[in-house]
Amino acid sequence: MTATPRTYWLEHAWLGTRVEPGVTLAVRDGRITAVRQDTPAPPPGAEVLRGLTLPGLANAHSHAFHRALRSTVQVGSGTFWTWREVMYATADRLTPDTYHALARATYAEMALAGITAVGEFHYVHHAPGGTPYADPNAMGEALIEAAAEAGVRITLLDTVYLSSGFGQPPTTHQLRFSDGDADAWADRCSVLKERDHARIGAAIHSVRAVPAEQLATVARWAEERRAPLHVHLSEQTAENDACQAIHGCTPAQLLAVHGVLGPRTTGVHNTHLTAEDISLIGGSGTGTCMCPTTERDLADGIGPAAALQNEGSPLSLGSDSHAVIDLLEEARAMELDERLRTRTRGHWTAAALLRAATVDGHAALGWDDTGRIEAGGRADLVTIALDSVRTAGPLPGFGAETAVFAATAADVRHTVVGGRHVVRDGAHTLVPDVPGALARAVEALRA
Ligand SMILES: [Zn+2]
Repeated sequence: MTATPRTYWLEHAWLGTRVEPGVTLAVRDGRITAVRQDTPAPPPGAEVLRGLTLPGLANAHSHAFHRALRSTVQVGSGTFWTWREVMYATADRLTPDTYHALARATYAEMALAGITAVGEFHYVHHAPGGTPYADPNAMGEALIEAAAEAGVRITLLDTVYLSSGFGQPPTTHQLRFSDGDADAWADRCSVLKERDHARIGAAIHSVRAVPAEQLATVARWAEERRAPLHVHLSEQTAENDACQAIHGCTPAQLLAVHGVLGPRTTGVHNTHLTAEDISLIGGSGTGTCMCPTTERDLADGIGPAAALQNEGSPLSLGSDSHAVIDLLEEARAMELDERLRTRTRGHWTAAALLRAATVDGHAALGWDDTGRIEAGGRADLVTIALDSVRTAGPLPGFGAETAVFAATAADVRHTVVGGRHVVRDGAHTLVPDVPGALARAVEALRA
């Protein structure tokens, strides 16, 4: 974080509802202290951000190690469940060192894509077989350190993962995910410390991975700390069917009964829901994290995001399996999927999609003072080039539409986190060769 005051001049700025030309920001100690409009030229000494500057993007759902699966899982057919076998084989090979290297490179790729905060849904806790490391949080610490080195904020969503299915013990692959029970999970992750760039939250892997009678323990842990609580919810119909068979209710109903739903909770995917589920989720203020590029990659289906939002569920976005890392693509995919399903256009405006990618995404991760360009907020910014081959042409007043519907991660010119340039002119300032770091980290995990 910068201790000395700084001035930024934004050629065009997204101020939540409109694009404003010529905006000057004063920044001190990583926070915006003043926003001045009507400044057509950069003040002397100002950092100049040419293009359209948005608040930093929040990637609300990540499993960093899935980055090692990119492309190689695109061969052959199958379902989510066959993909999961390949994913487990990669998880088996992770160590704190190899995970640190892969996460550092993956988070650097995120910074290059304009992501300033990541929600890491983290469940690979222990050594293969389930033996704790000397530091039982060695894996979580590796992720927190990786985020610091890549210059992004992280909310470590430390995940409870105890069973392979309703009443079933963990499989061999899953032993390293399990703490044994929710109390042991709470003891371990209570030791994790928050830092300037890192928040600690909780996650329930899914209703199939945490026995019903232990759900309240996790909900209480998050409640006591006022920490975010995330849960994979109804991504697959098989999970719904098993939940009905064992508990006689849907996963959303089971979570509601055990006190898991609420405004600090986010359901990830929320794909296969009943009308009552949608009311339960929306009515409780539970958020919905959509991961459209993963959901389409894994042939999951299209979740009812519009209906959930109408019932009161705030929306956020995540790149999840990292088939691609591009929050602009996630944002437009949510709208475009809904167009395909309904054969009508215009379910979300560009402004609404940016809200999910910025302020509501940050709130889902417990960063309530981030995601807006306003005095008092954190100086987390991303600048999109408006003069690239993809983005040239529209008037700057259509900058939000250009960013959401035409730009890609490749159009990110600058990323600023807490007043520090993490990406300048398309180059990462802390990780010198991100493609090289990714290649080496993935190679180290190859069978
Ligand atoms: Zn996930």
